[in-house]
Amino acid sequence: MNRACVIGWPISHSRSPLIHNYWLERYSIQGRYDRLPIEPSKLSGFLSELPSSEYLGCNITLPHKERAFRLVDQTDEIAQRLGVVNTIYRRGGKLLGTSTDGEGFVANLTAVTALSKLKNQRAVVFGAGGAAMAVVGALVDLGLTEIAIANRTIERSNQLRKIFGKMIVPIEWADRSEALAECHLFVNSTSLGMTGQPALNVNLARLPTSAVVADLVYSPLQTPLLVAALSRGNVATGGMGMLLHQAVRGFELWFGTRPKVTKELYDLVARDINPSYLS
Ligand code: NAP
Repeated sequence: MNRACVIGWPISHSRSPLIHNYWLERYSIQGRYDRLPIEPSKLSGFLSELPSSEYLGCNITLPHKERAFRLVDQTDEIAQRLGVVNTIYRRGGKLLGTSTDGEGFVANLTAVTALSKLKNQRAVVFGAGGAAMAVVGALVDLGLTEIAIANRTIERSNQLRKIFGKMIVPIEWADRSEALAECHLFVNSTSLGMTGQPALNVNLARLPTSAVVADLVYSPLQTPLLVAALSRGNVATGGMGMLLHQAVRGFELWFGTRPKVTKELYDLVARDINPSYLS
């Protein structure tokens, strides 16, 4: 049987099994996608046994993404730039690693805007953690000219400037609302606004109504940022689309079929996040 899994610690929150098992059924592929709790001290052992195991590969989630990057045999350019992997697959007895968050973010963005409209424009990103790294890398590749990064800990924004160059402009967290002026794309990649986390405190008054707003948070489905942006006329998209699209390449690498992100899948995962969600 074809099998893949997601590993993390903790792992009970992961929606990956729901997504991949849906696709396995949808494409009539005999297989299963498991959720495995792997504590940090067991990561190295798990990965060394993976090539001879029943698993074709795995997704990697917190807190293993950086260590897994160092433990696999080979990584691609995207993973090397970010220093993390979220997807591992087997080829010729070796473990290969990549990161699919950036392409998931871009694929979701295409649902609400033409990517060509972002070329030579300015983006503002809140946050400088793991998700922000992937987003910023993708935006650099899309040809934006300036990416302003506002993060509570400015040293992390400075670190992103070291990695991606002088198009990255670190902004003090206190100045985040002012920074939204003359912005074509505004991305929240902090955990603020997520269920159980503090709200994202931001004043959208300076944000042009022509700007696209992307919130990476997917629980709740409609964050207060999305609601506020939509109500003033901005085009806005939540984190669910990115969550679904980042899973596409892993499925293709393990099972050989490139799956589609459909409304039916969106509704399935949305109902898992919010049981009262109506399609
Ligand atoms: P992370 O590496 O832990 O980074 C968290 C970020 O949030 C950091 O920039 C952190 O700032 C900031 N932050 C946390 N608490 C804050 C507070 N009280 N005030 C100001 N800033 C605060 O996490 P991550 O992996 O980047 O994930 C960030 C968010 O993106 C999460 O909500 C996650 O669910 C979401 N995400 C979504 C997808 C998707 O597919 N839609 C994929 C990945 C992540 P400091 O640097 O100052 O700590």
